[in-house]
Amino acid sequence: MTDQTTMKTSVFENTPCIRCDGTGYIRGYSHVMHGVCFSCGGRGYHLTKRGAAAREHFDAAIARRADELVAGEIVWYDRFCANGSASQWVRAKVVSIEPDELNVGRLRIELYRRSAGKGTDYDLPCVTYGCFPDTTFKSADPAITGPARDAAIAYQATLTKAGTVRKRI
Ligand SMILES: [Zn+2]
Repeated sequence: MTDQTTMKTSVFENTPCIRCDGTGYIRGYSHVMHGVCFSCGGRGYHLTKRGAAAREHFDAAIARRADELVAGEIVWYDRFCANGSASQWVRAKVVSIEPDELNVGRLRIELYRRSAGKGTDYDLPCVTYGCFPDTTFKSADPAITGPARDAAIAYQATLTKAGTVRKRI
């Protein structure tokens, strides 16, 4: 079960969400989308402009195109929720990438998703059909995300409050 009392945070500059007191959940609304706070999308915080710019820097550094993926790599990919309205990033291990025979020019990507509450196991098989070659995945390899996070935090320190690079005098 998800912890609904802990304050959530980010390494990128942020302010706690006042709607949910930084927990990502609204008490008494568990019957609506499991009580996930609509204001912050369950994150528990809102990135400042500076934090959002640093987060973009990070996302760009860990981005992987679908046609760049290699078997065995651990990635985040955007799986649409059942209701089709929101994106949902899930962690998965790439098993294979092949041309999609039914959708010319697109890819068929087989993955193993990590099942909830099962530690490091990737045991839910799933296949994405009709994936555009330039679809964005994100690396979840610590050897890539670690240095990218450090670089984004360093970049954040060079930004003004408005999220723009400080002018040199
Ligand atoms: Zn919130």
